[in-house]
Amino acid sequence: SSGGALLAASGLVSGYYKIKVLNGVDIEVRRGELVGIIGPNGAGKTTTLRTIAGVVRPWSGSVSLDGSQVAGLPPYRIAKMGLGYVPDSRELFPSLTLEEHLKLAHSRLSSGEDYRSAVERVLDLFPPLRGRMSQRVGTMSGGEQQMVAIARALISNPKLLMLDEPSTGVAPRIVDNIYDGLKALKGSMGILLVEQNVQLVFEVADRVYLMDRGSIVKEGTPEELVKDELVRKTYLA
Ligand code: ATP
Repeated sequence: SSGGALLAASGLVSGYYKIKVLNGVDIEVRRGELVGIIGPNGAGKTTTLRTIAGVVRPWSGSVSLDGSQVAGLPPYRIAKMGLGYVPDSRELFPSLTLEEHLKLAHSRLSSGEDYRSAVERVLDLFPPLRGRMSQRVGTMSGGEQQMVAIARALISNPKLLMLDEPSTGVAPRIVDNIYDGLKALKGSMGILLVEQNVQLVFEVADRVYLMDRGSIVKEGTPEELVKDELVRKTYLA
């Protein structure tokens, strides 16, 4: 339904080979909402994003993106339908320039916005990338590469942006740049953010899911979760 969530994943089960990792995950992101997923190592956060993106095939369950069923479709089709995905591995091409990354993604995935305005839109979000268009991405710092990966996901103006641990391997000053960018984006698209730095998530998220052993075990606003005994003990000690 058009009044429904932008993303609704329901009863997602998936894994690797015969090993089940997700035990029936339910996640919703409404239009304009920034939603975080936290949880211990191995909980299945990365697998959840991979399954939504179609990189890992769901064994069962459904994924609706802006009202369309996408579970079982290949990643490219899901991206075309409005999903921007920044995987933990970033998946950049070291010998290609920033410009080449943006052009490639724009030509494959954009739905009409002209390239120049799309570039201006993403450079406004990440000022440190200005003046870097012809730099090979392999020569950039970890934080700059993370910005490139996010900029590439945004160049097609997706409806939903999913990010997997954007602060990992990134210098603190650049983490601030990245989160300033996310704050500026907030409200204009749905954002689903996996992040090991719980303080960061609580600062930006409208709502947070806590995952453990392949299941969602808690859900609430940062204000609610900050008061939760388990969350306090585990993450905010
Ligand atoms: P982390 O913060 O450590 O990345 P996570 O919550 O993102 O944890 P996942 O990466 O989704 O968790 O991993 C969940 C489980 O799936 C773990 O037991 C992990 O070993 C397993 N797993 C992840 N990727 C693969 C893979 N490519 N092949 C086989 N097993 C995998």
